[in-house]
Amino acid sequence: MPTECLFRDDSYLKSCSARVVSLTEQGGIVLDRTIFYAISGGQPGDTGALTTEDGLHIPIETAIYTDAAKSEIAHVPAAGSPTLKVGDAVTAVIDWDKRYARMRMHTALHLLSAVLPYAVTGGSVGDIESRLDFDIPEAGLDKDAITAKVAEMIAANASVSSRWITDDELDANPGLVKTMSVKPPMGMGRVRLIEIAGLDLQPCGGTHVHATREIGTVRVTQIEKKGKQNRRVRLALA
Ligand SMILES: [Zn+2]
Repeated sequence: MPTECLFRDDSYLKSCSARVVSLTEQGGIVLDRTIFYAISGGQPGDTGALTTEDGLHIPIETAIYTDAAKSEIAHVPAAGSPTLKVGDAVTAVIDWDKRYARMRMHTALHLLSAVLPYAVTGGSVGDIESRLDFDIPEAGLDKDAITAKVAEMIAANASVSSRWITDDELDANPGLVKTMSVKPPMGMGRVRLIEIAGLDLQPCGGTHVHATREIGTVRVTQIEKKGKQNRRVRLALA
């Protein structure tokens, strides 16, 4: 059963009420709705807890999709947690400080991809450091110069917004795909676009801050050569 993903429309929700709709064979808890971001696109699943009206407390270690279509989310409880039943009402709470840092980090990676307009071959959002891998034949990248350009974009306080677009709308607007830094996945019916006003437009399912100044200070910490054409650029929050 598809989970209502509240974090997609409002990434600032810290808690929500929900109901247990099923339990997976591995012990995952599926709710009718959730604020837990499930691991995907290089961003880790949220941690937090589920609590019941009669005081049960279930620490959640991560959240994962149970299906390839990424429609249903299972909350993975810590070992030894009390068991819930289908129909139980719960309050879901995420570890907000951790999630907010990931939102800042993730949005900073969009800016990094705008500063370095090359094909992205991989990436991940970490709690200490994040990274993007670029397909760049020539090195010549300067940490301080990239840090300065990202800082400029953060200071501009550009707004970050999301919208859904159907495959048909995309087909009708080929110019849109051209302006995107990443090609959208087609054939799913619709695509979620993230736009950082004037700076970046790309399909993305992650969680972002509302405006770039919220990112704060970031620093490019390392640029590594990973193979002939690959450059790995690491970034950290100050
Ligand atoms: Zn994103």
